[in-house]
Amino acid sequence: MPTPIIYHIDVNSAFLSWEAARRLEEDPDALDIRTIASAIGGNEEMRHGIVLAKSPLAKKCGVITGEPLAHARRKCPNLVTFPPDFELYVKRSNDFMTLLREYAPEVEAYSIDEAFCDMTGTGSLYGDPVEFARTLKDKIRTELGFTVNIGISSNRLLAKMASDFEKPDKVHTLFPEELPEKFWPLPIENLFFVGKSTAKKLRSFGIHTIGNLAGSDRNTIVSLLKSHGDTIWHYANGIEITELSHEAPMNKGYGNSITIHYDVTDSDTAKKILLSLCETVGARIRDAGAYISVVQIQIVDNEFRQRCHQTTLPSSTNITEKIYETACCLFDSLWDHSPIRLLGVSTGKATTESYEQYSLFDTGKNERLSKLNSAVDDIRRRFGEDSVKRACFIETSTKNKGSAGSMPKNKDSLSHFLKL
Ligand SMILES: [Mg+2]
Repeated sequence: MPTPIIYHIDVNSAFLSWEAARRLEEDPDALDIRTIASAIGGNEEMRHGIVLAKSPLAKKCGVITGEPLAHARRKCPNLVTFPPDFELYVKRSNDFMTLLREYAPEVEAYSIDEAFCDMTGTGSLYGDPVEFARTLKDKIRTELGFTVNIGISSNRLLAKMASDFEKPDKVHTLFPEELPEKFWPLPIENLFFVGKSTAKKLRSFGIHTIGNLAGSDRNTIVSLLKSHGDTIWHYANGIEITELSHEAPMNKGYGNSITIHYDVTDSDTAKKILLSLCETVGARIRDAGAYISVVQIQIVDNEFRQRCHQTTLPSSTNITEKIYETACCLFDSLWDHSPIRLLGVSTGKATTESYEQYSLFDTGKNERLSKLNSAVDDIRRRFGEDSVKRACFIETSTKNKGSAGSMPKNKDSLSHFLKL
């Protein structure tokens, strides 16, 4: 068995980099907004804009991701801000993942700007994995116009931790033999899955570094923090005991989730994200010719507390709107208003036959929706993911564009707008 080689590839200040790359593509002489004190954040007119991404100079001024734009401006009066454009991010993210798939045998999109690549056994093809990571990083920079960090290790946890070392445009390794030198001296807050309150608790017990935790008695940590303690004790020792996977395991189901790089604090935004997740989940279900009857949602908050909630439908379905409606009900009953960092939708009890509880009013509508869904899938397959969009997404991007001072948009894509 060859030694496992995992890359974790993370776009540096993704939203800002993608905005910068677009501007430079439109006008090669344009100012590279990565070189000034700048930030992505919206929307100031609504008075709840927060910083979603920042440039290195803004970071130097003390601007932090997640803080209100007004605070950031106080620290950095000449801060130039740009509103977010999620449509652009989805497109750039697709380009990024497509390029990775050209080189890596297995690519797992972990969030919009992060992916794991399993490079195990590619040595004969690409040579030294560290050298090849540098080549790949440079290729992304030249071909796509933005920089990434690549972390390399024998498991995903350590690869992810490694990509977080010095940024931007860097390749780092964190193999098990490098833990004492590179990993254990780091403050406990840097460990994956350790939120503010956990860190505070650990520090009150004299655990200040990842090394302190790694060297602690496992049972003591478990009695202190229950199963979460067990997970992070293993993480501190470089052992990936639980899958970093976002998808809740469900019997024969389809799911999707997304890590959000800022805190989602309102239900409108959360539900838009749920809708986009339900769109991909629904498309996968229909693509497989399946029907599902269990819907589950997953919420992870900014302290990494995870909550799941599921329900069984009266009839099996493959309709996006049904899944979405159910996901929204589950969300309303599950969400405690703590800031959200990850949302997931999964489905289960998949069958290849539909069954429907008799309903006088539903049947006709379901049939129409089902046909509409299939038509949309077909258009997307032929003309690309972006060819059909829901009205609510269009409105979002229109609003963003409006406050951006109008950005010329790519008009090539076939625009079918659906009001559902
Ligand atoms: Mg990133």
